[in-house]
Amino acid sequence: MAVIISGKELATKKKNEMALKVQDYLKVYGRAPHLAVILVGEDPGSISYVKGKEKACQEIGIINTTIRKDATITEEQMLEMINTLNADDRIDGILVQLPLPKHIHSDKIIQAIRKDKDVDGFHSDNVAALYLKQKGIVSCTPKGIIEMLKSIDCKIEGKRACVIGRSNIVGMPVAKLLLDQNATVTICHSKTSDLASVTREADILVAAIGKPKFVTAEMVKDGAVVIDVGVNRNPETNKLCGDVDFENVKEKVAYISKVPGGVGPMTICCLMENTLECYLAHMEDKND
Ligand code: NAP
Repeated sequence: MAVIISGKELATKKKNEMALKVQDYLKVYGRAPHLAVILVGEDPGSISYVKGKEKACQEIGIINTTIRKDATITEEQMLEMINTLNADDRIDGILVQLPLPKHIHSDKIIQAIRKDKDVDGFHSDNVAALYLKQKGIVSCTPKGIIEMLKSIDCKIEGKRACVIGRSNIVGMPVAKLLLDQNATVTICHSKTSDLASVTREADILVAAIGKPKFVTAEMVKDGAVVIDVGVNRNPETNKLCGDVDFENVKEKVAYISKVPGGVGPMTICCLMENTLECYLAHMEDKND
């Protein structure tokens, strides 16, 4: 039976370490890191994600300002708000909770965030930096997945990794990070034929699809490491579940992450890490 990779435990450990660091930073720089989060509308999922971020900030000692706006806000008003936050020297990180209402172009909003305050790592300059192996901000979910693999001393180099999903926020960047760690990476998607024949070859399997219990025991290799990124509702129980048929797959693989308690907490943890990185860069810039 598999060992469960607990993103929740790893995130708690890392947040405790960050909290200690923030105490030191306060003494050196005279102020705490500051994250601004913009939340538009009343989407319950978004509200809950933002609450999770507020809680993590509180635990670490990061100042959090959540700016809540009605869904009728215009794109122009949002751009103005971002410009103000960009210019505010006391704000280290800016995050816009997605999705935004349809009348606002998310791309335009993300691009307006100063790239050195883009804690989500979604600005095209940060995305390009990842692909060009330059210094930049790495988006939180892919970063968290790599940290989970490292936490179990998973040797990535030389391994066959398979990522199911090719979105810009999960599938593609996690595949790039695995490649950078010298895995041989296959990226699968909805048009992949005979998906199971590909996934069964994988020593490391990352599922980022958005379909409950999609990855079955027949699709995984004996002794593989499986990371489940999916966040779905189980249609039978209405409880949160991942993309992997956890109960059956766990009998076959060596390591597996669980939903909830897996990638989700590590995503928030890496958001906090990115906020600290932006803060430190900001502080060091000022001291130059
Ligand atoms: P997405 O943009 O909808 O991408 C889903 C991917 O799955 C697409 O590349 C799609 O292929 C592929 N796919 C769909 N059906 C497939 C099939 N039958 N066989 C193989 N591939 C298939 O979703 P996302 O934003 O990457 O998110 C994926 C999941 O991760 C969601 O459940 C999301 O909620 C979750 N998530 C979790 C976190 C976290 O922090 N825990 C963060 C982000 C996302 P095509 O490209 O061909 O359409």
